[in-house]
Amino acid sequence: TRDITVDAASTEHAEEIVQSVKNLEDIKVVNLYDRTFNLHRGGKIHIENKIPLKTQADLAMAYTPGVGRVCSAIAQDPDKVYNFTIKQNTVAIVTDGSAVLGLGNLGPAGALPVMEGKAMLFKAFAGVDAFPICLDTQNAEEIVETVKNIAPVFGGVNLEDISAPRCFEIEARLRQELDIPVFHDDQHGTAIVSLAALINALKLVKKAMGEIRIVMNGAGAAGVAVARLLRDGGARSIVMCDSKGIITGDRPNLTPEKREFAVEKGGTLAEAIVGADVFVGVSVPGVLTPEMVRSMAPDPIVFAMANPIPEIQPELVADDVAVIATGRSDYPNQINNVLAFPGIFRGALDCRAKSITQAMYLEAANAIAALVNPSELTPEYIIPSVFDKRVVTAVSAAVQQAARKEGIARS
Ligand code: NAP
Ligand code: MG
Repeated sequence: TRDITVDAASTEHAEEIVQSVKNLEDIKVVNLYDRTFNLHRGGKIHIENKIPLKTQADLAMAYTPGVGRVCSAIAQDPDKVYNFTIKQNTVAIVTDGSAVLGLGNLGPAGALPVMEGKAMLFKAFAGVDAFPICLDTQNAEEIVETVKNIAPVFGGVNLEDISAPRCFEIEARLRQELDIPVFHDDQHGTAIVSLAALINALKLVKKAMGEIRIVMNGAGAAGVAVARLLRDGGARSIVMCDSKGIITGDRPNLTPEKREFAVEKGGTLAEAIVGADVFVGVSVPGVLTPEMVRSMAPDPIVFAMANPIPEIQPELVADDVAVIATGRSDYPNQINNVLAFPGIFRGALDCRAKSITQAMYLEAANAIAALVNPSELTPEYIIPSVFDKRVVTAVSAAVQQAARKEGIARS
């Protein structure tokens, strides 16, 4: 018999291969490799020096005594920290591990591989040096204090995978108390790309943002931010549903974020969606049925973004929708945050922005949408590919322009 090693991208796939060869007499599986685990060995990122340390003189400049003069100069004029340190290109990716991907509350260690991966995306797409910071606390007060205390090193803070509704308070407090951009990607990254996609989808069906009826399903981190940005982008009719159906003002213990979108008349998602032009789902798998889609207005637009399994499988309504988008890479129109956050931070860092604003989100969304030329626009192509190299440049330029207009750029 021959001894073989099965090398697959996942344990599941490796086991399928093992099953398929198990009855072959001359083959014996002696080893199983999970390629995904293997590429994580030792972590996915590291720190490298930009200048050589070969001679005594190199040492004396990079470190003491030479460095001392630079330290004193910065102490005298704190803005110089941007010129002479990593601050100008460094982002802290901060999580408490409370809402890791769709996996839930895994805690700080369990969150680390995701944050390392995020750092890789920052570097690969925008040349940003991002550092994973996984905090061993889920107390909002402690998170705010910790981030404030480490902020001097960073030019920006990307909050990541912090559960709702705590994420709203944490972000609001940090935005108020820090003079660098703070951006919760699960909220605003999603919102920017969703708005970009909707702008283009509406061109296809020839409907105006101010005239459509939108049903949002999901009122968590993503849902609230998406609804806010769609509203700022001109949407005037948004009905928001959560796990209990349409959010109404008379519900007890409403969070302020849900109250912002509460309406008078309650009901189920099935009731809310009748006659709607757009469904935006950032909720849970499978909650949207083909019957509900068929009850929408003519040329319905469906964004089913629950990950990894959408609110509805696109093939179930292929003939019923004008446009459908998901969060997945294996269907057309992937609403992926990587279209937004690298360029957002690239732009914010390059103009040394003091903050990130809703106007910057709007401009970023417009810039992403504008990359799809109207002549190229089809129901299968409403947003650029994540590998479209123009995206980061366009988003970064839009963000810088908005920052200058708002007077929050330092350079
Ligand atoms: P979250 O903060 O946990 O919010 C989930 C929301 O879904 C909550 O408001 C929850 O209602 C609601 N919900 C749960 N079951 C529901 C049901 N049966 N019907 C209607 N609503 C229901 O999560 P998140 O961070 O906002 O993310 C939500 C989903 O969107 C996830 O699947 C995530 O992967 C996906 N997502 C995709 C993208 C993307 O594609 N680019 C980006 C971000 C998020 P309650 O408030 O009543 O609990
Ligand atoms: Mg996330």
